[in-house]
Amino acid sequence: MDVLRTPIINSPIAIKNSNVSLFLKREDLIHPFISGNKYRKLKYNISEAKRLKKTTLLTFGGAFSNHIAATAYAGNIYGLNTIGVIRGAELDTQIESNPTLKFARACGMDLHFISRVQYRHKMSPDFHNRLNDLFGDFYLIPEGGTNALAVQGCEEILTKDDEQFDVICCCVGTGGTIAGLINASKPHQRIIGFPALKGDFLRKDIRKFATQDNWELMSDYHFGGYAKINPELIAFINRFKNTCNIPLDPIYTGKMMYGLFDLIEKGYFPQNSKILAIHTGGLQGLAGMNVKLKRKNLPLIEV
Ligand SMILES: *Cc1c(COP(=O)(O)O)cnc(C)c1O
Repeated sequence: MDVLRTPIINSPIAIKNSNVSLFLKREDLIHPFISGNKYRKLKYNISEAKRLKKTTLLTFGGAFSNHIAATAYAGNIYGLNTIGVIRGAELDTQIESNPTLKFARACGMDLHFISRVQYRHKMSPDFHNRLNDLFGDFYLIPEGGTNALAVQGCEEILTKDDEQFDVICCCVGTGGTIAGLINASKPHQRIIGFPALKGDFLRKDIRKFATQDNWELMSDYHFGGYAKINPELIAFINRFKNTCNIPLDPIYTGKMMYGLFDLIEKGYFPQNSKILAIHTGGLQGLAGMNVKLKRKNLPLIEV
């Protein structure tokens, strides 16, 4: 699997009154639907599924999941059937009004909705047996796409040129991306993760795959939890788009950049630090988030 046709650029980001430098690695430009880290995570999994002569990919995700959109699209172009096990039994009547699910279905993904309680047990052997009874044989990709092959793919985000940076920042969902960055980093580099959700389980999950200790998590920028946002975050994302001409998503990259700007403003980084933040993509989720914001009468994210 290779949709990567152009080299990834590191865009300089101007920051006022600061003597650190900041660059944003534009992994979001890899592809409109298999974007950012989801491309990195699927790459070796799709090769492995093909090697094992599997004909179907099965994976899990929520209503606006970037991973579901990416898997549906990738399966379609690489000739694999896809099954998406979706969190929320009520969503099966809302496909038309949910841009992510509508897109996944249009790519040929078979959507299978389960309750939130069932979803919590989605990795149990019992549940897998049930899925096998329903769908036959499949290649299973965990939620968020994270497994050892995904981490291997994410190790390719950093290049030789990136060795000049002192600090590398990324968003954290399941921890696969940061684990890849940690493994690919040099001893003089520090990796800082910005979790998009609350909870202490992340450190353990990251340690499962990470081979070095040069990392930390900044846990104060999740805005109340996964997919929770507020008008301040929306204003930040819109301001960033207007000044840098780079779109951010509200679930991951917006929170990371908000946090990173806050840390820079507070003088967290030593003078002359060179910082590289990874734009992990996720822009397909904007449409769905704007549907939600409109319903709540909140300001929209400019696209
Ligand atoms: C899925 C996703 C993440 C989270 O990556 P993990 O490897 O699960 O930590 C970060 N950013 C974006 C845009 C994503 O879609």
